[in-house]
Amino acid sequence: MKLFSIFGDPVSHSRSPLMHNSVFKCLDLNACYTRTHLTEGSQLRDVFFAKALSGANVTVPHKEAAYAQCDEVRGIAKTIQAVNTLVLENGKLIGYNTDAEGFMRAIESFGALRNALILGAGGTARALSIALRQGSITPTILNRSQGRLEYFKNEGIESYIWDNFTPTPYDLIINTTSAGLSDDELPLEKSLLMTLLSQTKGAIDVIYGKETPFLREVKATALPYKDGSDMLLAQGVLANHLFLNGAYPLSVIEPPMKASFSLS
Ligand code: NDP
Repeated sequence: MKLFSIFGDPVSHSRSPLMHNSVFKCLDLNACYTRTHLTEGSQLRDVFFAKALSGANVTVPHKEAAYAQCDEVRGIAKTIQAVNTLVLENGKLIGYNTDAEGFMRAIESFGALRNALILGAGGTARALSIALRQGSITPTILNRSQGRLEYFKNEGIESYIWDNFTPTPYDLIINTTSAGLSDDELPLEKSLLMTLLSQTKGAIDVIYGKETPFLREVKATALPYKDGSDMLLAQGVLANHLFLNGAYPLSVIEPPMKASFSLS
């Protein structure tokens, strides 16, 4: 039996086991996907091999640690410097980032976009800004504090903190902050958010499974919007495709994985 797992802290809330096991079951594969609660990111590689895994996903806060422990990193993950998917290939640990492409698939429904404002400057903001730029959509970062802006400055991506930001129109407003995840906070001051929403064509929150204060404000407008479910599904489909060495097309993997969203 091939074994897969998700590493994170916390990890108990993760829907990944349900998503991937639904695909394995549907395709009648001898494979199983579990959760691994990992507090020390530096142990990720050792635990991966000790559990004899064939592949894994990595979530908060270990994506940068996973990047550092791969034998080889492929694709956009090299620029993002964060890995959310690990695949064992000829005894070597290969790292990918499917969050980035998953997000780009999720925003296709918004139509053509010229630019986007990303709220937040963490690992997800990094992945999304690089993916947007590759897709010829100009990203701008807005964060509450300075500390994490260095990466974006080095990448030549415009970045601001609340104090030095002047709102201009953006085609899409993206919330990648964890505001609203386990509290009832908006990701930025309400009047500034309302100004941004009055000038945009759509909004998306990468948080899924709950209505954040950000999404509540967006819903009160007539704007097209999404939560993070489509991104979660798309990154999972892409990761499963890598786990199965490309043996099944995305169009075969997606339906059973999507169906798992209605299971609890
Ligand atoms: P990080 O911890 O790396 O970054 C969090 C960011 O949020 C920081 O910029 C931080 O600002 C900001 N922030 C936190 N609290 C507040 C607040 N109250 N007000 C304003 N800003 C705040 O997190 P990640 O980037 O790894 O993940 C972010 C979110 O994305 C998580 O909720 C995660 O679940 C979700 N996610 C969803 C995915 C999906 O498939 N749908 C995939 C990946 C992630 P500061 O720098 O000032 O601390």
